Amino acid sequence: MKAWESNIRKVTPYVPGEQPRQSNVIKLNTNENPYPPSPEVAKALRAMTTGTMRKYPAPDAQPLVGEIASFYHLKPEQVFAGVGSDDVLAMCFLTFFNSDRPILFPDITYSFYDVWAELFRIPYERIPLDEAFRIRPQDYFRENGGVIFPNPNAPTGELLAPGTVEEIVSHNRDVIVIADEAYIDFGGESVLDLTDRYDNLLVVQTFSKSRSMAGMRIGYAMGNRELIAYLNDVKYSFNSYTMNEAALTLGTAAVRDRAYFEETTARIIRTREEAKKRLAELGFLVGDSKANFLFVTHRTCPAKEIFETLKKAGIYVRYWDKPRISNYLRITVGTDEEMERLYAFLETFLAAHAACD
Ligand code: PMP
Repeated sequence: MKAWESNIRKVTPYVPGEQPRQSNVIKLNTNENPYPPSPEVAKALRAMTTGTMRKYPAPDAQPLVGEIASFYHLKPEQVFAGVGSDDVLAMCFLTFFNSDRPILFPDITYSFYDVWAELFRIPYERIPLDEAFRIRPQDYFRENGGVIFPNPNAPTGELLAPGTVEEIVSHNRDVIVIADEAYIDFGGESVLDLTDRYDNLLVVQTFSKSRSMAGMRIGYAMGNRELIAYLNDVKYSFNSYTMNEAALTLGTAAVRDRAYFEETTARIIRTREEAKKRLAELGFLVGDSKANFLFVTHRTCPAKEIFETLKKAGIYVRYWDKPRISNYLRITVGTDEEMERLYAFLETFLAAHAACD
């Protein structure tokens, strides 16, 4: 080992889902929205000029922050925007999780949480979900350095009712509780309203799923102005210009088109509910996901085998060889047409496969 190696911050990085470059695949592996962003985004893109690139973008992420604030009936001081919710969440870990006590999150959850905890040297504890892969709120009623969980959880899709989230928040008034609502727009009820009553609650959302803009990298946190000010202090101490001009302009156009947002999320919810029935008919056990993905296991056919077979056929879904979930697949909800091709392929494969009938 070279002497300087002992001074290096060594991390095991997060592994994102594959982004195959071929255009003929059915891509159901990274929870992107199968529909394009609002036509208002295309219009705003055509109106952009290179002149805007000469200058630095607005460090306070306006007009995007203002537009998000008015969409949710908040003050701009209650909104913090970043480069996808990954950037926002990383800033949150840095800003709010500075205790000697461990932060708490579920054992089966978004696999970036333990990566950030390791990166920033934050002690953490993974709290096991119950047998049905649900969060037990009472497990979080104990001393800790902070709490974070996605709602609905990922990759299970299980949603907690606002009252259950409130129980967790009210038992943790001494620390910051973060509700990661990346998938809340697909039929869940946000706990944003609770931020009025609980100054220790922060809600984080993203443009990557319900607003079809994963490639633009826009995420945001909402809460009381004190928490947002602390986040901004850390951001300005790190990089004042996290968000580029295109993201600010196009993100603003997306938020303005509420009708398109409502129509496309409703369409995904319809496809998801149909998928629950169709996959059950094919022998899958399907959880009651309230997200834009399904977490499934087959009665007889190993998940890994289905995953590999689908991939060879150009249908990408997500599989983790990890404790408790190594026989599960996470399938992003695509268009109706993509889903029909998935069902047809699975039907033929499962029928032909002796071990899997
Ligand atoms: N939270 C959860 C639970 C997620 O699944 C994702 C998507 N990978 C994110 C946050 C981050 O999404 P983005 O950075 O695209 O906003």
